[in-house]
Amino acid sequence: MNLKDYIASIPDFPEKGIIFRDISPLMADGDAYREATKRIAEYAKEKEVDMVVGPEARGFIVGCPVAYELGIGFAPARKKGKLPRETVEVSYGLEYGADVLALHKDAIKPGQKVLICDDLLATGGTIAATIELVESLGGIVVGAAFLIELEALKGRNKIEGYDILALMEY
Ligand code: IMP
Repeated sequence: MNLKDYIASIPDFPEKGIIFRDISPLMADGDAYREATKRIAEYAKEKEVDMVVGPEARGFIVGCPVAYELGIGFAPARKKGKLPRETVEVSYGLEYGADVLALHKDAIKPGQKVLICDDLLATGGTIAATIELVESLGGIVVGAAFLIELEALKGRNKIEGYDILALMEY
């Protein structure tokens, strides 16, 4: 199955000059969604992952079914102010301005092996912030899995030394 058949490319969204890669056709197709999930779960199996963490919001779409498939838990990394209990927080740069990502303090236990999942690796800012959160709780990030990597933006360079899986590259 060619997963790229299930990605819609939208020119000039959200602004002129940007091609937005939309994963919703993949999610809408049961076989494609399951195939993508299985490929990531396969990658994670050798790593003996204890927990999956995904950043809001599309990290949930990718990470939750992977955690389910592996029979392990999922912890959401959310924008500041959304999680109800004590959190660790990290601020990270966006194209314009900055944002804060948070994780419940008890989401990861020290020494647990963590797989981080998101839909897309662009500049790497989101994944770098998520790694920082997990490591501040003593978690060991054993891999980062994405449906899509935008190679030209060189997000990999921001997380050098970490193992990365991208199912599709543009
Ligand atoms: P980064 O922090 O620059 O790596 O951007 C990655 C984040 O931005 C991910 O959480 C994506 O959901 C979102 N993102 C950036 N570009 C796209 C796109 O073309 N399609 C879908 N999501 C995108």
